[in-house]
Amino acid sequence: MKIFNSLSMRKEEFVPIEAGKVRMYACGPTVYNLIHVGNARPIIVFDVLRRYLEYLGYAVTFVQNFTDVDDRIIKRANEEGSSAKAVSEKYIGEYFTDCRGLGVRAATIHPRATENIGQIVEMVGDLIEKGCAYEAEGDVYYRALRFQDYGKLSHQPLDELQAGARVNVADIKESPMDFALWKAAKPGEPAWDSPWGKGRPGWHIECSVMSSRYLGKTIDIHCGGQDLIFPHHENEIAQSEAANGCKFVNYWMHNGFISVDSRKMSKSLNNFFTVREAAEAYGYDAIRMFILMSHYRSPLNYSSEILIQAKNALERLSTARANLDFFAQNGADGAMTAAERAFAGSLSKYRTRFCEVMDDDLNTADAVSVVFELVREINAAVSPAADPTKALAAACAAVFDELSDVLGLPLKKADEGIDAEIEARVQARQAARKAKNFAEADRIRDELRARGIILEDTPRGVKIVRER
Ligand SMILES: [Zn+2]
Repeated sequence: MKIFNSLSMRKEEFVPIEAGKVRMYACGPTVYNLIHVGNARPIIVFDVLRRYLEYLGYAVTFVQNFTDVDDRIIKRANEEGSSAKAVSEKYIGEYFTDCRGLGVRAATIHPRATENIGQIVEMVGDLIEKGCAYEAEGDVYYRALRFQDYGKLSHQPLDELQAGARVNVADIKESPMDFALWKAAKPGEPAWDSPWGKGRPGWHIECSVMSSRYLGKTIDIHCGGQDLIFPHHENEIAQSEAANGCKFVNYWMHNGFISVDSRKMSKSLNNFFTVREAAEAYGYDAIRMFILMSHYRSPLNYSSEILIQAKNALERLSTARANLDFFAQNGADGAMTAAERAFAGSLSKYRTRFCEVMDDDLNTADAVSVVFELVREINAAVSPAADPTKALAAACAAVFDELSDVLGLPLKKADEGIDAEIEARVQARQAARKAKNFAEADRIRDELRARGIILEDTPRGVKIVRER
């Protein structure tokens, strides 16, 4: 598989540190609010990366942290008259609710900053000892310019980074480039004991600590949104490589922004849609489809038109999947015919093409197209006109499921949601038809039609198709 590495700025063949194993880390959310659609992009894209690596046979250990101590969490707790812990607990719960809806699997480990304070204090102390960091009035800062490779991920020359750094006259830092590893406690804030007095960790240090604690000093893949490249990931590299004396990450992967009317969707611009509100309007599965329909590094524009388009695309896949289920249950008995065997065998070309495009830096846009081409062929071969065997329908369903599972597409299966009441109406209609009471049969069909349930009569029985 080839991965575009932000460090080298080119596609590189993926070679894991240890054969058959992948250690990957993704920067998780700061839990003070519901996530928005822009936040959902890395979550979904890197869930697919993990699924695909597993599909290729790798054992993947995936760590994603929760930043559960931060200015914004403390601010929200003060506004709500609650504690930082209560706020972060609440939004960790909300985060998992959205992830379940989006079909995103939980990481192998979801460590929290506040559960790693001892290890954080240790790494900060180590960096001071090595001369890479210094204490000032209870804060601890990293000497960014002391790190030889500072700027290597963001590909910016040091003088440009320095020119961009905000100079604060009252600053106690040696250089405006220096960043906080530890912050002295202010009254009313959550604080922990340290050799520099009571305080709490800065943001960047937690990822360096959790990555090495749970995955080792050098890891295979570190991923996140493009906006994290500088300063967050640049600082993670400086901390980890100075503390551990070895390369921090072999492959850096960053996804592009989601924009609204050509401006980046963000909390600060207040042009965001929460995943929750988008899910209420279009469904969680449409959000997943919308994100996978483009390459993860491309910019992506959010609009109701494209969400509806994604929803319709998913609908076509669901209908095709339900059709396979119908014929797997109601098709002709016996073994596949020779022609069917040849057709089923030919479907492996879709597997091959799917892997080709996914191997090319996780091109989910083309992978979705491959699934659609597969569906077009299957729809023609497994249809009332073709009168397929159950065995053929099952063989087609297996290929279809294999590929759509890698993308994590949440497709409704035929039997799901067909409740007893609808089943009874379908039976009543069958009985009316048998009794040649066609007026009654049509009436029941129209009644169900009005509820979005379409009955298709086939030589193999009645197919129930749900309009969503
Ligand atoms: Zn991070």
